[in-house]
Amino acid sequence: MKKLLLASLIALLTGCATQLPNIDHSLTSKGQSSRVRFVVIHYTVSDLPLSVKLLTEKEVSAHYLITDENEPRVYALVDENRAAWHAGLSSWKTYTALNYNSIGIEIVNPGFKDMPDGRHWYGFTGRQIDQLVALLKQIKERHQIAPENFLGHADVAPQRKQDPGPMFPWKRLADEGLIAWPDASAVAAALPKYETQLPDVAWFQQKLAQHGYATPQTGVLDPETHNVLVTFQAKYRNSKWDGVPDAESAAILDVLTAPKPKP
Ligand SMILES: [Zn+2]
Repeated sequence: MKKLLLASLIALLTGCATQLPNIDHSLTSKGQSSRVRFVVIHYTVSDLPLSVKLLTEKEVSAHYLITDENEPRVYALVDENRAAWHAGLSSWKTYTALNYNSIGIEIVNPGFKDMPDGRHWYGFTGRQIDQLVALLKQIKERHQIAPENFLGHADVAPQRKQDPGPMFPWKRLADEGLIAWPDASAVAAALPKYETQLPDVAWFQQKLAQHGYATPQTGVLDPETHNVLVTFQAKYRNSKWDGVPDAESAAILDVLTAPKPKP
């Protein structure tokens, strides 16, 4: 009986062992790419200790956290090959649930403060942005991120989020060659047409959706469309982001959505 037990135990053990796959890493496929397609930029709306606590102990996370110290540190909190939980319910163009194909970067910044004379937004330090730019360049290199795929949290969730906010220097990212930016002379050339006749709301909705924003196609300036316009204006024209359709916004949208000349 004991012998039988021992025999079946050995059979069980060896059986288990033979079930382990014998993986050979000597071949590699040519057709492959990174799973990372987007970078999503955030601010934390918290000071450094609370930001660290939230991003390391709670159900939210990001791949990187840039601190607000004099010499900002860049913490790597989640491996780039794994999903961090930063974007939530999100979409851009035909992509949804961006946690699974993006890298999330949080920057320590209080966001905004509502005062009697209106809402005040906090800026980022030059050193924070320097660190961010260096990090983005590395990420772009590692994952071949397209210029139109560096986004803010508000871009992918305009109904819920405002970060990184109107103080975030998107133009600097453009100057660093990271993101696409509407050419100023092309915008100036397109402007008179839209000053003469402002396109209707349906036109704005169609262009905003074409650019990538989840935008209702209702033909009326509903609160959702207003939120998308605010996000768009805060990014590309941060002198005025009131969510009202105007000629300059139309000209910028026109230039951004114009078919790109074939290289
Ligand atoms: Zn965010």
